[in-house]
Amino acid sequence: MDSARQMDLVMQRTDAAMREARRLSGHIVFDGKLQPALTAETFEVENPATGAVIGKAPRCGAADVDQVVRSAQRAFESWRRVSARERGALLLKAADLLEKEAEALAQLSSLETGNALATQTRGEAATMVDIFRFFGGLAGEMKGMTVPRADGVFLYTKREPMGVVGAIIPWNAPLMQTATKTGAALAAGNAVVLKTAEQAPLAVLRVFELLQGVLPAGVANVISGFGTEAGQPLCEHPLVRKVTFTGSSATGARILHAVADKIVPVTAELGGKNPNIVMADADIERAAKGVIAGLRLQRQGQSCTAGTRIYLHADVYEPVMERVLAAIPTFRIGNPLDEATQVGSIISREQLARVERYVAMARETDGAKILIGGERPSDLALKDGYFYTTTLIEGVPPASPVCRDEIFGPVATVARWTDFDQVIAEANDSTFGLAAVLWTENLRAAFDFIDRMDAGFVQVNQFAVAEANIEYGGTKLSGTGRELSVESLVNHFTWSKTVIVNTAAQ
Ligand code: ADP
Repeated sequence: MDSARQMDLVMQRTDAAMREARRLSGHIVFDGKLQPALTAETFEVENPATGAVIGKAPRCGAADVDQVVRSAQRAFESWRRVSARERGALLLKAADLLEKEAEALAQLSSLETGNALATQTRGEAATMVDIFRFFGGLAGEMKGMTVPRADGVFLYTKREPMGVVGAIIPWNAPLMQTATKTGAALAAGNAVVLKTAEQAPLAVLRVFELLQGVLPAGVANVISGFGTEAGQPLCEHPLVRKVTFTGSSATGARILHAVADKIVPVTAELGGKNPNIVMADADIERAAKGVIAGLRLQRQGQSCTAGTRIYLHADVYEPVMERVLAAIPTFRIGNPLDEATQVGSIISREQLARVERYVAMARETDGAKILIGGERPSDLALKDGYFYTTTLIEGVPPASPVCRDEIFGPVATVARWTDFDQVIAEANDSTFGLAAVLWTENLRAAFDFIDRMDAGFVQVNQFAVAEANIEYGGTKLSGTGRELSVESLVNHFTWSKTVIVNTAAQ
């Protein structure tokens, strides 16, 4: 495509997504339709690639939460009695409907998140559809057990839906998070009230508007607002019987405190600072590609799974780094709606400032050296957006916050190692325990690594991310509970009732 036509296409996409953003502005979805919230207060939604305001979302508070949760509770009373396979069939229909709108959803998501259409949001929209299908297919799998006792005594367990599920999601992959939480909640017979992230409420709002075309009124609801004003009241609402949250560890802890008094289960998918370790015997080309994959450039590193602590064995440090440093500049940073763009913009001014703070900290650290990046791109066309170049830093001491904190941006540290026990100890010396990856041709080392890593998602010779049927979740400050598997659905979205029916004569 010549560049004039390409620019034209970007303009068309931007205009269409902006129109949709304006149409959705000021609304939430409950009681089966897109409608205004009780509150007249709104907050602005920005296009992070330009800094321009693209829409407004209701700044819901406790009164909105109460209204929507009560509506969801009424819908739950009927939804729980819909047969499990029928609920599944409705989710499959929902998936078909979302699939038809996937491209428009992806473009709207790119407009508000800064994630590139070609490398992130288009694939994410497909994953969203896939996750709804996955849970639609599992709706009939909410099985209990029968327990041997005695003739005439029937002892069994039955899985019950929980009621209204409060779901709270972040901004980095909102379509996927929506499917993960909503698909599971609904398949199990719950109703859901989801609160979108402040930075990216619109594409998810459109998803919920579409869901109303298929699902009974009131079972799938979405609100917008700030964490403490809308998120916390949602968690604390007495009719919310389960909370499923993805976001930072600090907020996860706050939510666990907030629901402690009413004793409800919480699934918390939190942060990560994940080691990506290359051994001396690794296939160099494959490992270099794996280091790049771990940087999660399609989301500007804003991924909890990202391999942001890179440990390269001294024997392969140079050849791996040579390939990685040569590959990074080939990823094109640009307008997220441009088909040629592979890396978009960081989500917000605040998040960009956070990235810059950590890079500045590294610059002031003795012995630390920025190998690539460490600045905003020079392209003037990108100057108003929150773009940042992919940044690798070596020589950062393990105790530095640059090595320990989840920066949540395109920044990773690189370290040289020689002793396997020591690198495993260092990899585990983290408050997080989400993902870990090893590159090796040595089977014994691979299993040693698997056994010894304190992380919920461990991979050898590949860097994949969560998807349907790849169970996902962490340990330590990375969270509690699991998602995206049949077990996670049964264990975390239903509760078990023990039943004894005694038909014996005596
Ligand atoms: P991030 O740094 O990724 O924005 P947060 O954990 O702050 O991570 O936000 C993730 C989600 O949690 C957002 O939807 C946000 O509004 C919500 N949130 C923030 N604080 C609270 C809170 N105290 N209670 C409930 N939800 C919250």
